[in-house]
Amino acid sequence: MSNKLVLVLNCGSSSLKFAVINATNGDEIISGLAECFNLPDARIKWKIAGKKGATSLPANSAHSQAISYIVEEIINKEDGLAEQFAAVGHRIVHGGEKFTESVIIDEEVLEGIETCSSLAPLHNPAHVLGIKAAQAAFPTLPQVAVFDTAFHQSMPAKAFMYALPYNLYKQYAIRRYGMHGTSHLFVSQEAAKILNKPVNQLNVISAHLGNGASITAIKNGKSVDTSMGMTPLEGLVMGTRCGDLDPSIIEYLVTRKEYSLTGVMDILQKQSGLLGISGISSDFREITENYEKGNERATLAMDMFIYRLAKYIASYAVPLGRIDAIIFTGGIGENSHIVRTKVLELLTVFGYQIDSEKNKAAILGEQGIITKNGSPVAMVIPTNEEWVIAQDSLALASTDSLALASA
Ligand code: ADP
Repeated sequence: MSNKLVLVLNCGSSSLKFAVINATNGDEIISGLAECFNLPDARIKWKIAGKKGATSLPANSAHSQAISYIVEEIINKEDGLAEQFAAVGHRIVHGGEKFTESVIIDEEVLEGIETCSSLAPLHNPAHVLGIKAAQAAFPTLPQVAVFDTAFHQSMPAKAFMYALPYNLYKQYAIRRYGMHGTSHLFVSQEAAKILNKPVNQLNVISAHLGNGASITAIKNGKSVDTSMGMTPLEGLVMGTRCGDLDPSIIEYLVTRKEYSLTGVMDILQKQSGLLGISGISSDFREITENYEKGNERATLAMDMFIYRLAKYIASYAVPLGRIDAIIFTGGIGENSHIVRTKVLELLTVFGYQIDSEKNKAAILGEQGIITKNGSPVAMVIPTNEEWVIAQDSLALASTDSLALASA
């Protein structure tokens, strides 16, 4: 198959991120975002070869209208572009225990994604809508599902089980699944290239620090532990999510303080983390600005974010034994030299010595090692989840077309 372009779709409940990626080199031909679905001000914006476009969509538009617009008004307006598509790749948040790798979407896979909706009620139903709309728009192209959870399916039971009665796992699939798998996979593979080591001999700790944040222990190229759990609420301090917490707090607020359960969950998911502690913002740039001005609660939010992150990194020495590198990625990991410095300072017991010049240079998409020669290695690697999705989609589309040819 000579076609190399993949339309990558990341469908949320109220928005849809899209990109057209050259799967062989990661070049981004188009990128964009449709948002405010099911609202009067539904809209879409995009970028092609550096040129930006934006327009409103008909009121109350959602996935299918947005995909129609992307196909008819953006892709088809570029001469010969659609003819170069090899596949449509869909980012799927939750694949449960059913999906351990990317797959071509057929009826059974679609049903499987729907079944996993109980584990990701905000995301998986939106993915199904996006897949159906993309199937209608591109009936002849293979559609591929790439799961955020798949990379973590290699975790051993001692890492993925909660210490709850075993039948809750057997009956309801309550266990830790982990997220951000495509990102952790991508940066670990890039680290292998930088360190000139085969991936299957590489032990790294990868910290994906964006609005959502998770950290993964990767041993011999495979995920062996990760900080997110059954849902993306567990683990690190995040933009608006609380991360690790004593579950009795929920009971205390509901039974003693007359909060509703929905209200408490809204607090844990949308009003906690950096936003809840600082009272200022969930955006790390604003936290940093206020921290630099000496604001007490921004400083506390920053300190808590860094402290918990460093504790997780230290704890992953247990499953790994040997740590070849710590990797920082995601908007905060790729840009905040302050976070990286302070985290490594808390890890001096491991001998990390930061190189402040290299650390400050690693921003805005620059990758590189940020520790001194002779120190254990920490590095910054900009993530590229879309490229992983495009690569998997192209690889599966190629085998699919070979299978059809030989059938
Ligand atoms: P998402 O999880 O939505 O994909 P990103 O990976 O884009 O998030 O990361 C967003 C976070 O990165 C925000 O908190 C943002 O403030 C932070 N960020 C972006 N640029 C910088 C910067 N220069 N310094 C500190 N934080 C930054």
